[in-house]
Amino acid sequence: MSAIEEGMAFPTPKAYLHPMTDLSATPAPAEEDTGDIVSNEAQRPERQRKPDWIRVKAPTSKGYGETRTLMRDLKLNTVCEEAACPNIGECWTKKHATVMILGDVCTRACAFCNVKTGMPRKVDLEEPGHVAEAAAKMGLEHIVITSVDRDDLPDGGASQFVKVIRALREQTPNTTIEILTPDFRGKMHAAVEAIVAAGPDVYNHNLETVPRLYPTIRPGARYYASLRLLEEVKRQDPRVFTKSGIMLGLGEQRLEVHQVMDDMRSAQIDFLTMGQYLQPTPKHAKVAEFVTPQAFSAYGAIARAKGFLQVAASPLTRSSYHAGEDFAQMRAAREAQLAKAAAGKAR
Ligand code: SF4
Repeated sequence: MSAIEEGMAFPTPKAYLHPMTDLSATPAPAEEDTGDIVSNEAQRPERQRKPDWIRVKAPTSKGYGETRTLMRDLKLNTVCEEAACPNIGECWTKKHATVMILGDVCTRACAFCNVKTGMPRKVDLEEPGHVAEAAAKMGLEHIVITSVDRDDLPDGGASQFVKVIRALREQTPNTTIEILTPDFRGKMHAAVEAIVAAGPDVYNHNLETVPRLYPTIRPGARYYASLRLLEEVKRQDPRVFTKSGIMLGLGEQRLEVHQVMDDMRSAQIDFLTMGQYLQPTPKHAKVAEFVTPQAFSAYGAIARAKGFLQVAASPLTRSSYHAGEDFAQMRAAREAQLAKAAAGKAR
């Protein structure tokens, strides 16, 4: 079931506030769902009602249909569909999709993720060419490539990322490339070295949540291993922008979120994304709270004060949401910073 499906009348959540956050301006949630998404209420198990600020429109535009057809024709998977992203209508209308390489079956079973778990199929050797063809046909200025975890492969799937980056550089040399990789557990150094050498513009790896919640939310991963991966990217090539994100609403505390920001800055991460966790199906981790847009803005302000070059923080923020626009802003921010530093030296 898609996380964008709405329509059930559930009791109003008790709290919309993030712990220790001022919620005085929080609007009351509507009693009836007025969302536009068609649903099949009779067959649906009980789910948490979402506040008004999470509502999204059903994807029906012509652009959405064209993106869908192209992905089907080229046999490409997208995280937009597999993760049941609420932004799919908006993004696909604008011809922005996040391609998920290395199949649609993941070797991990994180409590927040909607992607199927099991034994993945063989690697598709034509996939790098198809990704590049899709980018060319869509005329993409910026592309985001992610993958399932492939702990079954000797390199964790790193070589497929490398092939995709090379194919894109060859076919669409003006497209900027953002990759969102797994943690390459047990083979991180070699994987990062190979991928960074291929020259992505942005290297993203999500921390997903605060370290205290890893055992329940991200049991197959280690918080500090993920931080080290991002640190390693910078060590290998400081020109590559690094990016990471966390979901809010899983039960984290405000000061824990601040600590994650500090850890990220210590690892020289350039770009932080924060969005609301949404429970994809009743089998997944429950939403502990719906964090208000005001609380997201407050977190965003704190993150900027801590020195991130770019911050995206809102209920519907996802790693790849508005990725192209955010990349352009981040690049401009770095150029301004370098120019300022150079002017300071010249004085
Ligand atoms: S936010 Fe990212 S994952 Fe969601 S629809 Fe947009 S491109 Fe796809």
